[in-house]
Amino acid sequence: MAFVPVNEPLLNGNEKKYLNECIDTKWISSEGPFVKQFEQQFAEQMGRKHGIAVCNGSVAIDVALAALKIGHGDEVILPSFTIISCAAAIVRAGATPVVVDCCPATWNMDVSQIEAKITDNTKAIMVVHIYGLPVDMQPLMELANKYGLYIIEDAAEMHGQTYNGAPCGSFGAISTFSFYPNKHLTTGEGGMVLTNDETLADRSRSLRNLCFQPQKRFVHLELGWNYRMTNMQAALGLAQLEQIDTFIARKRHMGEVYNRLLAEIPGLQLPVPKTDYATNIYWVYGIVLEDNVPFDAQEAMKRLAAHEIGTRPFFWPMHLQPVFQEMGLFDQVSCPISEKIARRGFYIPSGLALTDLQMQQVAHALQDVMR
Ligand SMILES: *Cc1c(COP(=O)(O)O)cnc(C)c1O
Repeated sequence: MAFVPVNEPLLNGNEKKYLNECIDTKWISSEGPFVKQFEQQFAEQMGRKHGIAVCNGSVAIDVALAALKIGHGDEVILPSFTIISCAAAIVRAGATPVVVDCCPATWNMDVSQIEAKITDNTKAIMVVHIYGLPVDMQPLMELANKYGLYIIEDAAEMHGQTYNGAPCGSFGAISTFSFYPNKHLTTGEGGMVLTNDETLADRSRSLRNLCFQPQKRFVHLELGWNYRMTNMQAALGLAQLEQIDTFIARKRHMGEVYNRLLAEIPGLQLPVPKTDYATNIYWVYGIVLEDNVPFDAQEAMKRLAAHEIGTRPFFWPMHLQPVFQEMGLFDQVSCPISEKIARRGFYIPSGLALTDLQMQQVAHALQDVMR
């Protein structure tokens, strides 16, 4: 049987048409008209006033931190169980990342652990919604209010998800998205910063564009980056955004199909379909091996590869990263849940182009592997 890749995007809408428009009009740089259109429509869809398109989701976090002027001496609280982009941006900004563990069922940051980590130096909480369910925002926002902390919301995995009916990416001072090909919407590479605050929006726009000044273009008051998105990326983004409702419906359908197919296989902890505040969007379909399974995720993934099934391991916790240990960060930190799911967790093919037949192939392979 043919190999089932872990991700393949769907590009069946107006992607080709809008890309051809870029070529025909010769608007290929960030100056092209699709960029503003994509920024406006994406911001509107996510319930925000301003959108600032950038070249990927990792640098969107750099821009968010710099826009908020977070730097030396500041601490930012974030989940240990996340992608390196979050902690790397904090460290590069000169600030200190402070991690909390995650919840065993949702794999999202354990909000009840945050208050104990707040000090006089804490400036922000970086919220990262993981895999398909949002972080429990209500108690987190109450904490942020009580202590006067910014919320930076990394919604890279949550386009189209809601928390108690409000769009993910609409919370806090500033939020960030990625449009990498495994995200719900893709521009190949790409990202977005969203905010309701005009000053933050202006700062983000300037920071993404080398902090050129409108009047004296080549005289700089601050250091920025060239993190601009091209018109071609925005063309893809617009075409993808037109399809967001069907994409989200498809993702939820895929999650339900997997839930049904995998329910009877012993030893697998499956994603939680629903919480009080959200229905799983299954950005990726994660699986954690239960304690009685005599092997780890690495072995399960090796066996699935032999069955022609592509997989990816779960994130490796920030406090266990050799690069950060070398810097003396996270001494004495322990996050037992993150450590466990990092060893025991992986995800199976979850891309939008995946067919129901391929999902059956994955389920059969898993059945074999777990026997
Ligand atoms: C994918 C992702 C990013 C990084 O986005 P890139 O576009 O790949 O740089 C950041 N945060 C989270 C939570 C992600 O899933």
